[in-house]
Amino acid sequence: MAGKVLFEHSGKKYYVKDTSQDYHTQYGFFKAADLKKKPGTVIQTNTGVKATIGNPFFADIYRKIQRGAQIVPLKDLGVVIAKTGMGKDSIVVDAGSGSGACAIFFAHVAKKVATYEIREDFYKIVKKNIEEMGMKNCAIKLKDVKLGIDEKNVDIVFYDLPDPWLALEPARKVLKVGGFLVSYSPTVPQVMDFVRALDGFTILETIEIMERQWEVADRKVRPLSQQIGHSGFLTFARKL
Ligand code: SAH
Repeated sequence: MAGKVLFEHSGKKYYVKDTSQDYHTQYGFFKAADLKKKPGTVIQTNTGVKATIGNPFFADIYRKIQRGAQIVPLKDLGVVIAKTGMGKDSIVVDAGSGSGACAIFFAHVAKKVATYEIREDFYKIVKKNIEEMGMKNCAIKLKDVKLGIDEKNVDIVFYDLPDPWLALEPARKVLKVGGFLVSYSPTVPQVMDFVRALDGFTILETIEIMERQWEVADRKVRPLSQQIGHSGFLTFARKL
């Protein structure tokens, strides 16, 4: 993975994609020549702020992917992976692609991912994001998922669609028996319509994941005043 990560000793972190130019921060700049130094080297800005250089991890680059649509946050993605047991043998279908955030994360974990998107502008963003992340096992298709899924013997179908209840049949056709259909929706009426329409599946559960961030600074240890608000509900079902 290209670039470098700078771990500033005060706690900030920067992902520097292009190390051929000086890197400017709020507290001065790091010289391009310093950015090429070995991981573990301590460098400093022109104003004396110190940082340790590292090679980027998947998590560093993932945070920087270009966004078109609203992405599913990590707290929700983590639970989808945990509850479905997604792993190195999993065949996964994702729709709609949006920014490709789910597809790319799933591809980091699964054997193969196909992601479906109807909007050409989003399709282009996702294609670029997949290429930049170097994901070879992730294919994007410019196609309405309601018209059918091309993959067979699928382990997990993940929907982040405005109307997932209209795309049940394509998922049911390609999922293995016991395969998971997971739907992510921000509103209660969407959950109601989805669950009501689930035919040929057993419904496992609908959950909401809450993450509370804390400030830990000397004796000032308390939840942050500003928190991430609501994201979406996750409904899990399995094909009969
Ligand atoms: N999960 C994505 C965000 C998805 S936003 C992420 O984390 O990046 C929902 C997307 O679904 C939008 O981009 C929209 O264009 C697409 N979409 C809506 N209906 C669709 C359909 N029938 N087939 C494929 N994509 C669809």
